[in-house]
Amino acid sequence: IRRSKVAHLLKETGFGKEVNVKGWVRTRRGNKFVNFIALNDGSSIHNLQIVADTTKFGDELLRRIATGSAISVNGTLNESEGSGQNVEIQAAEIEVIGECSPDHYPLQPKKHSLEFLREIAHLRFRTNTFGAITRVRHAMIFAVHQFFSNKGFYNIHTPIITASDAEGAGEMFRVTTLDLNNPPKTEDGEIDYSQDFFGKSTHLTVSGQLEGELAAMGMSDIYTFGPTFRAENSNTTRHLAEFWMIEPEMAFYDLNDNMDLAEEFTKYLINYALAHCAEDLAFLSKRLQEEEKNKKADERSMELLEKLRFVVENDYARITYSEAIDILMNSKPHKKGKFQYQITGFGSDLQAEHERFLVEKHFKKPVILTDYPMSIKAFYMKQSDDGKTVRAMDVLFPQIGEIIGGSQREDNYDKLLERMRVLNLPEKEMYWYLDTRRFGSVPHSGFGLGFERLMLFVTGMTNIRDVIPFPRSPKNAEF
Ligand code: ATP
Ligand code: MG
Ligand code: MG
Ligand code: MG
Repeated sequence: IRRSKVAHLLKETGFGKEVNVKGWVRTRRGNKFVNFIALNDGSSIHNLQIVADTTKFGDELLRRIATGSAISVNGTLNESEGSGQNVEIQAAEIEVIGECSPDHYPLQPKKHSLEFLREIAHLRFRTNTFGAITRVRHAMIFAVHQFFSNKGFYNIHTPIITASDAEGAGEMFRVTTLDLNNPPKTEDGEIDYSQDFFGKSTHLTVSGQLEGELAAMGMSDIYTFGPTFRAENSNTTRHLAEFWMIEPEMAFYDLNDNMDLAEEFTKYLINYALAHCAEDLAFLSKRLQEEEKNKKADERSMELLEKLRFVVENDYARITYSEAIDILMNSKPHKKGKFQYQITGFGSDLQAEHERFLVEKHFKKPVILTDYPMSIKAFYMKQSDDGKTVRAMDVLFPQIGEIIGGSQREDNYDKLLERMRVLNLPEKEMYWYLDTRRFGSVPHSGFGLGFERLMLFVTGMTNIRDVIPFPRSPKNAEF
């Protein structure tokens, strides 16, 4: 008989059918008449119940069916009388594929804390919580490609090893081919890292945007969805050293078109999760609510599904950065000195606490902030006529703050060049970027969505290490 997945069998109605199922045992309980085995293979938040006659299989075999062991079961699919499940398998044959000693297995049949699961990250795929997160993550990846594909965007792979530094942030990992036992030296006797990639200086990409723009200036609408690397040597709950970013770039789009796309895109993803991940989200929501009970009333966050609906059911507020500064300067927490970081007026960079105030307390809907001061944004953003602001946009969500950063790009060759000179960017080396403005330049726009920030929002998790299979941060790199 061909193997069926647990998720498939749970929806089956062909009772009396012979089936095979394989998976890992979550629990086994029984008496001298009958044993019940809860089996999971990663395909569902629900376990499949296997019913085994105690005398038929005998104590010796049943003892080997412990939490964590892997088994294969042939049996009959029956309607279940137990509450909370429609089907069960009456076992005819059980084979133990992989044994698991209950004395040494770190996972017990109980709820483990997220901290504990992070410590046993190599085994957490066997838990309900991480299983749910992994399935939601897959659904979101699929929805990203579906959204853009339906709109006629092309997926472009931008390079991982690159010489360009989109943000000028300097938080980069070097790539080196140098023989470090016998490296080239500078005049001062230091290792000459400017020679490190076959004679060039390169690093791991911090963003695919600049290369993505090249593709858009010919293909019209493209998106990248790849790994990005930032040497952020801090252990925040919102930053990873390796994270995934979705970056669409669109020719002939102005900032309004860009905002429309960002709003439509984020709503599409969340609607997709609500429609396709209902069981996993319901499980996560319940788990989160249990944890919320231990918190003070004013520290409790919105219930997960309510928070997701908050995004899809509201039109995002669209205001300028200057208006936001006015609102914040006149806000209670500012006047009472309750913000951790004080804003002082035009030119202040907003922190998550300010962004969340605008979303959760002031507008009570997601917010798109536009027209940031030129001084706090990257060189490639389109300059406005006022000489002070750029056509930037940040999309702000509850709980997360900034989830998207984007802008209309500077398409005027002279203005771009002038800005690069002011910021001391290497104009000769970036001839390829400037060329798109020299030859057939058009207004164009794009944005970056941090995929793990989206995952934090959709799953309600609060630590970014809990929404990526293998987190890379200063303290996590064992495998
Ligand atoms: P932040 O202010 O949170 O540090 P940023 O402004 O430095 O973010 P951008 O350069 O605008 O980030 O990158 C685009 C998006 O990538 C951000 O809106 C965010 O969703 C995500 N992001 C940025 N840095 C990280 C990181 N270290 N780990 C995970 N996601 C990140
Ligand atoms: Mg940053
Ligand atoms: Mg930021
Ligand atoms: Mg940003």
